[in-house]
Amino acid sequence: DQARAPDYLSGLNPEQREAVETLDGPVLVLAGAGTGKTRVLTTRIAHVLATNRAFPSQILAVTFTNKAAREMKERIGVLVGGAVEGMPWLGTFHSIGVKLLRRHAELVGLSSDFTILDTDDVVRLIKQIIQAEGLDDKRWPAKQFAAMIDGWKNKGLDPSQIPEGDARAFANGRGRELYAAYQNRLKSLNACDFGDLLLHPIRMFRANPDVLRDYHQRFRYILVDEYQDTNTAQYMWLRLLAQRPSSKNAEGKTVNGTVNICCVGDDDQSIYGWRGAEVDNILRFEKDFPGAKVIKLERNYRSTEHILGAAGHLIAHNEGRLGKTLFTDRVDPNDEKVVVHAAWDSEEEARAVGEEIEQLQRNQHLLNDMAILVRASFQMREFEDRFVTLGINYRVIGGPRFYERLEIRDAMAYFRVVCQAADDLAFERIVNTPKRGLGDTTIRNLHDYARARNIPMLQAASDIVLTDELKPKARKSLLDVVADFSRWQDMLDNTPHTELAEKILDESGYTAMWQNDKSAEAPGRLDNLKELIRSMESFESLRGFLEHVSLVMDVEQNENMDAISIMTLHSAKGLEFETVFLPGWEEGLFPHQRALDESGRAGLEEERRLAYVGITRAKRRCHLWFVSNRRIHGLWQSTLPSRFLDELPPAHVEVAEAESSYGGYGRGGGYGQSRFDKQEPFQNNYSTPGWKRAQANKTDATRENWGSRSGHAVERIGYGESGPRGKTIDG
Ligand code: ATP
Ligand code: MG
Repeated sequence: DQARAPDYLSGLNPEQREAVETLDGPVLVLAGAGTGKTRVLTTRIAHVLATNRAFPSQILAVTFTNKAAREMKERIGVLVGGAVEGMPWLGTFHSIGVKLLRRHAELVGLSSDFTILDTDDVVRLIKQIIQAEGLDDKRWPAKQFAAMIDGWKNKGLDPSQIPEGDARAFANGRGRELYAAYQNRLKSLNACDFGDLLLHPIRMFRANPDVLRDYHQRFRYILVDEYQDTNTAQYMWLRLLAQRPSSKNAEGKTVNGTVNICCVGDDDQSIYGWRGAEVDNILRFEKDFPGAKVIKLERNYRSTEHILGAAGHLIAHNEGRLGKTLFTDRVDPNDEKVVVHAAWDSEEEARAVGEEIEQLQRNQHLLNDMAILVRASFQMREFEDRFVTLGINYRVIGGPRFYERLEIRDAMAYFRVVCQAADDLAFERIVNTPKRGLGDTTIRNLHDYARARNIPMLQAASDIVLTDELKPKARKSLLDVVADFSRWQDMLDNTPHTELAEKILDESGYTAMWQNDKSAEAPGRLDNLKELIRSMESFESLRGFLEHVSLVMDVEQNENMDAISIMTLHSAKGLEFETVFLPGWEEGLFPHQRALDESGRAGLEEERRLAYVGITRAKRRCHLWFVSNRRIHGLWQSTLPSRFLDELPPAHVEVAEAESSYGGYGRGGGYGQSRFDKQEPFQNNYSTPGWKRAQANKTDATRENWGSRSGHAVERIGYGESGPRGKTIDG
């Protein structure tokens, strides 16, 4: 039979093949990284199409990102030969939700041209509502409430359904009422937020069984990738669609309530708990879909024995696991072990990674096959700078490049105006950021004034405040702005530039703006700002730094060029690379301080799963790094190697010898000792092959001592721009 099987089936192992060919009834594929789960889904779709069991439009397939959806479509095309004509229901939960909602908007009280509000719009709207209710929006920040609403929506909760305790937690017990007011306001604006893209369809299906029945007829096959990271609302949505009434199968037999749903996932890769994902959905599957076939895949096709050994040993430290076996047939004595490297600080880390990359390039390895996966987005800056210096092409996946981030652009705009008073674009960008009551009218006045006299806007501002062309309040604000800039300009040549830069951000109120911001991204943005100041240290002046950044920004980003990928661990899900670099394995950064501060082990276990995801992205080579010192607020802070390094098995891991030209930090080196007296045993332990033994001998007192210091040092590291789920829609 194998001989007659179509090509696309012949390469599969028996379990994979079973998962592809079990087309009737619910199927759950529960399997570790790199075992071919995504490949099974893709092949399953190809199989359905090739055997004419359904048209492309009758398949509902959910991927984690839009990029993954595009790739899946391409691969299906390859498998069945020729392009797949329209798979309209292949996409993320959100992109599919938009499509459903456009078709049936009127059933939830919207019209089909509804707008989708982004996070900023949502916060603005909530702020209006809070103010309209006569509440103090300083005491009850809109961002905080937006996050609460998002959490409720992830759980599929309408205002009437939220827990009493939650409702009481905001605005003296008015949480429920405000949530309801917000929903009403959205409706009257003919708008919805991201959460509604799931919740509205759920409401609509519940209230209109006939519509739901249509979709039951339509969607003959439902497939979900990365199932471990679905949240409750997504699960409810899936369950509604998957509970089909009786139907006839391919052989013409009536099958009762057959649900042709196939979900694939790995509980060890559940990394979005902080955003409402419920790994328990895996456990509920068999309960909610009786008769489900559960298939385990155990053979890993992606990685070497060493990489799997390291990842498997690490994740075994988690308690809350379903437990899975993973093996590979590929046992090659030439395979490299996972390598742990020590570096003095993040600058040296980037330099040493750069050297590794160049070495690989000399051996004919492509940059396309390499990735750097960071825990927090601020870590990217050092690598981006280094790669520009070395001329190594790179691309940042799942978020902007460091210098393109909102807060970095804002900060740079301040610096540009200080250095270059005629930079109107920069001036306009920040004249009312943070908010200073300089509304559109004022800006337009300023613009006209400057245009008419052919002078820069800052100049116009300092002139116009002497006239009575502006309202008193705007005039006062602008007067302050003008005074600020003139003071900073005076300091330009006689104040150390990092100090000045910090002053500008503080005195302008820009830093405070993010400090007062209660959103989840705010801490990450503050970290990025600190990183920005830090990155100036190696330049002589603010001008020199600005010039450097414009060069960095000028580097072309081109889809087709050979380039190394830089991304957060969160956005690396499902991807694979020949070589993976994992920098920053230090206590407080990874595992993240926030997880360490949490009581209970849930946070730490999620960090460990993230580490598992990171290591298992590697096919051939995996390099881990930790630094001994991070410079934060201009102060050197010692850091402790990540506990995850202790959890790696010596059989599959080796420690790199103290590295090359900068390698003085190891035993006998003078680099560290002379410049930084604080050097302590850790350095030496890790830079000698006996690190494992040394680790074992370490006293708790030492660990605690270092731990608390490192904890203090990195208390504010944010998640940064993490995963792409949800907030990206292709439409
Ligand atoms: P993750 O958990 O990281 O998402 P996954 O289980 O989805 O991993 P895939 O990405 O589908 O795994 O597969 C991992 C790699 O193994 C891919 O390069 C895929 O092409 C390859 N692969 C999967 N199954 C087979 C097979 N039967 N024969 C050869 N290669 C395979
Ligand atoms: Mg996958």
